[in-house]
Amino acid sequence: MAKITLPDGRVLEVGDGATVRQVAEQIGPGLARAALVGRVDGELVDLAATVKDGDRVQIVTAKDAEGLDAMRHSCAHVMAEAICRLWPQTKLVYGPTVEDGFYYDIDLDEPIRPDDFARIEAEMAEIAKADEPFVRTEMSRDEALAKLAGDRYKTDNIQRVDSATISFYSHGDGFEDLCRGPHVPSTGKVGSFKVMSVAGAYWHGDPTQKMLQRVYGTAWPTQKELDEHLNRLEEAKRRDHRVLGRQLDLFSFSEMGPGFAFMHPKGMVIWNQIVGFMSGLNRKYGYKEIRTPIILNEELWHRSGHWDNYKENMYFCEIDDVGYAVKPMNCPGGCLVYKTTKHSYREFPMRIAEFGMVHRHEASGVMHGLFRVRQFTQDDAHIFCMPEQIEAEIVGVINLIFETYRSFGFEDFAIELSTKPIKHIGSDEIWDVATGALKAALEHKGIDYKINEGDGAFYGPKIDFHIRDCLKRSWQLGTIQLDFSMPQRFELVYTAEDNTEKVPVMIHRAVLGSFERFMGILIEHYAGAMPVWLSPEQARVLPISEKTSEYGRAVQQRLFEAGLRCGADLSDEKIGAKIAKTHGEKVPYMLVVGPKEADNDAVSVRVRNSQETRTMPVGEFLETVKRKIADKDLYVEF
Ligand SMILES: [Zn+2]
Ligand SMILES: [Zn+2]
Repeated sequence: MAKITLPDGRVLEVGDGATVRQVAEQIGPGLARAALVGRVDGELVDLAATVKDGDRVQIVTAKDAEGLDAMRHSCAHVMAEAICRLWPQTKLVYGPTVEDGFYYDIDLDEPIRPDDFARIEAEMAEIAKADEPFVRTEMSRDEALAKLAGDRYKTDNIQRVDSATISFYSHGDGFEDLCRGPHVPSTGKVGSFKVMSVAGAYWHGDPTQKMLQRVYGTAWPTQKELDEHLNRLEEAKRRDHRVLGRQLDLFSFSEMGPGFAFMHPKGMVIWNQIVGFMSGLNRKYGYKEIRTPIILNEELWHRSGHWDNYKENMYFCEIDDVGYAVKPMNCPGGCLVYKTTKHSYREFPMRIAEFGMVHRHEASGVMHGLFRVRQFTQDDAHIFCMPEQIEAEIVGVINLIFETYRSFGFEDFAIELSTKPIKHIGSDEIWDVATGALKAALEHKGIDYKINEGDGAFYGPKIDFHIRDCLKRSWQLGTIQLDFSMPQRFELVYTAEDNTEKVPVMIHRAVLGSFERFMGILIEHYAGAMPVWLSPEQARVLPISEKTSEYGRAVQQRLFEAGLRCGADLSDEKIGAKIAKTHGEKVPYMLVVGPKEADNDAVSVRVRNSQETRTMPVGEFLETVKRKIADKDLYVEF
């Protein structure tokens, strides 16, 4: 008999050589049916793997991210087989999972077209219906290389893993693929799936290599979840910020500057609201703001390390025969400001913020509206402090980040902590202090977080913040990055309490990341219908006819003077058309005025997305809306 420990601490006695599947069966038939893979002593394994005395064993189902991942990856194998059945000359490259699905890169001269997806899905359905087990076989590296001799892709895959044993997975009659695993038990467990798209992709992203076809698919535990996902994608298309940006006249792009956004007056209102909000929080959380130049001498970028590590993404120019670079990051400029005066520990923590415009070269193929641009403005800040101040500073930044996300209507956060990589600078001691402080800060706040072991930058550990929008899409926004490198490169010092010169700890932090990208996210999250405090036009007066035009103009003037962004439609359109137009422009409040309203100093308020109108005195409307704006109320309803 072997004793194993379950996640809840329960100890279970199982037979010698029991498999993970047998453990699941022993726990209960429901769990055994739902089981997809197992976690044994931290490692994900197939259900067919065996457990031994003392193991910690967890049964993983599609409810766990890892279970869903194994399901999708297994589905990629099923899709690969389906494609090989239809196009036997296909050479398989690799098939990893991605957010919400998976892809498989294939080398096939004949292009796969959207018309072919149904055929591929039909083959996949047949393979799934056969419910053949996935079978793992292992062999030595040399054997595997001999077996796959002549297959340049798979040989390359083997050469990229540093393990003595190489594993293969097969299912059904003879379909086999080199794979680390684990896999779900059988082809019947790959969920409800759909082939989504196909795109060109270079092998290892290398444009000198042959262009491959990347076939994307998605898989979900149930048909219902698949349908919901497809609906969310449809909804995302409807909310596309590039389309809404044009429709609502918020911003544009021009061939004269690919990847550089032009903000229009209405977009600029949203922009200024976001910037103003962040500036208010900088004040509240004890930051001072600075502004540093966009173009700086080449020498600075040699010193900062960007020249050696980031040159491909930078823009350069010459001024008076001297080389300059356009800044891709604000930090070096911030360091120069730090160095203009002597600093003492008494000034610490020193929190210096900059809404800094940076330029980073992106390949033209990856640019995407405001989400991926070549010029953007970061809500950047650098905190200079002593090691013992790190924890309290991180707590402060987390508070600031949470307050920001909640104010914009995001409540669903995920946090990741990345720790010391193998290649790093700085002593183990400072890494331990810093990583400990980051963990303590997260624990102090009672926050769940995921650890990405060894995933930190070479110059320090970091915390990343992700939000989910209303379509459950995840966006990485904020980051807190400790930096043991830059203060040394720039020889930053402060006078410590014992009168010696010490190097300060430098913390980079951004809350939104980029104003442009965040604006794009907001537009899609709200489908362009912004909360009133962010709306370019908060209310519009709509006179029923020319007779009340004058009264309408007076109401607009009064609201405008009270600080509201209020417009008026004084055209001779019918009131129905005026309402439709205002609704289309997603103005939160329509103020219809006719003779009755004019006689009573009133407005008939129609709230965006509502059919009802409520008549109230102008003063009452003004007070209500002013309160909503001051509270940054996310709901426009009264
Ligand atoms: Zn696999
Ligand atoms: Zn920085």
